[in-house]
Amino acid sequence: MSGDMSNNPDAAALFHKTDSKVWDDKSAPVISDIDVQACWGRVNQRMRKDIGDAAWRHWIKPLRISGVQDGTLTLEADSTLARERVSSQYVDRLRVISSAEFGNVSPAIRHVEVRLAAGHQRTRPNQPHRLSEQRASSQATDLGKKPAAGDILMAGLDPRYTFANFVVGKPNELAFAVARRTAESEKVAFNPLFLYGGVGLGKTHLMHAIAWHIRQQSPSRKVLYLSAEKFMYRFVRALRFRDTMSFKEQFRSVDVLMIDDVQFISGKDSTQEEFFHTFNALVEDGRQVIISADKSPTDLEGLEERLRSRLGWGMVADIHPADYELRLGILQAKAEQAPVQIPDKVLEFMAHRIVSNVRELEGALNRILAHAMLVGREITIESAAELLADLLRASSRQVSVDSIQKRVAAHYDVRVSEMFSARRARNIARPRQVAMYLAKNLTSLSYPDIGRQFGGRDHTTVMHAVKTIESLSKNDGQLAEDVQLLKSILSS
Ligand code: ADP
Ligand code: MG
Repeated sequence: MSGDMSNNPDAAALFHKTDSKVWDDKSAPVISDIDVQACWGRVNQRMRKDIGDAAWRHWIKPLRISGVQDGTLTLEADSTLARERVSSQYVDRLRVISSAEFGNVSPAIRHVEVRLAAGHQRTRPNQPHRLSEQRASSQATDLGKKPAAGDILMAGLDPRYTFANFVVGKPNELAFAVARRTAESEKVAFNPLFLYGGVGLGKTHLMHAIAWHIRQQSPSRKVLYLSAEKFMYRFVRALRFRDTMSFKEQFRSVDVLMIDDVQFISGKDSTQEEFFHTFNALVEDGRQVIISADKSPTDLEGLEERLRSRLGWGMVADIHPADYELRLGILQAKAEQAPVQIPDKVLEFMAHRIVSNVRELEGALNRILAHAMLVGREITIESAAELLADLLRASSRQVSVDSIQKRVAAHYDVRVSEMFSARRARNIARPRQVAMYLAKNLTSLSYPDIGRQFGGRDHTTVMHAVKTIESLSKNDGQLAEDVQLLKSILSS
């Protein structure tokens, strides 16, 4: 971890310098600095919420971790006063929060000790050892003085959203690989990197992971992450206060700009315009731009054509809904870090039944965990089913492709087998396209999955079908009505 962050008021909440030798102790489990930093960052966030900003700034923020060992978290304070105040007033709360937040990376924390930092004025021995030599020498001078603007703007990043915590499977392997590559390469890899996929599938997670990685690997690179909504909000505010110059400057001075959920700026013309210019300025200047959205650039509606096409210039990677294996993998990874054990059978049951998205899967697991901790009894499939009844109901309302095919065939009076056949006559191809469109809209299956269920068709055929039905139904009232009717029958 580089040294410059401790100068920055907000970033310091997430990162404190650690004394690396502590983690090298042979008897201690190997805990990476990053994990510890991430946990400490969360402890800080919760403390800040609990005790209020002023007290947090004064007493908690200046603390540094000096070790985590054998269930004791040792912190260093810079003065006797600080040490006493923290020990008398905040130590219990710190212990409770830390034992929860460090649960993932170390044995439960049972004590928190606050020590007076020994000679904290002395220059720190652990200057950024992770920096490569040349970087260290060229930046050593300004690292100490100037907090990078990006730090402040990264304060909203979730410390849990790292590459290490991202479970990779078929549906997200491309997105993961390009995100990683983008994060790792010093030069601009793909510009822009465009990640898209449905809600709750890990777009934000991957973006934060890129930011954390860059922050750690090249602390001098300015990374700015924000949601498109925030971008818009800031822009509108800048307009109101006639301060667009500094707005522009702020954005155009970063090395890596990440805008999450860019679909939010569709239809907002002046924001789009500004975004387009910022985007161009950065790309032309060789800075990395990373975008996420819920749809591919071509499918984003309400976006100006030139922006849409520009967004698709670099690398476009989609995240598909998690399949069973990935769902199970994610549950296992998360359950492994939990303080109580959940039987494999229960995890398998959940992976089978909760298919909507990863966020919901996580929510379900948390519910199970909370219950297990509370009652202290082993969770069974029956008790899980009971606890998750509402989620399971929602999932079982999921329509199957099979039922879509049957319904559509009946509606258009064609044989169900035509859904899989290779025949292309209009009177058969159109109903088939309608069925594909409905499959995309009413299930969480990916294009390739749907293609397979329609006689092994290619995913591009399905994409084409979806687009065709979308655009045709704008002008064809009969078709639009058919689709609407089928939709409501199928999802009732
Ligand atoms: P999105 O931005 O696509 O709506 P998020 O990135 O917010 O989705 O992900 C929702 C939740 O699911 C987050 O808590 C995230 O950590 C988790 N998640 C999503 N994909 C994965 C994955 N592959 N491995 C681990 N956690 C994941
Ligand atoms: Mg998101």
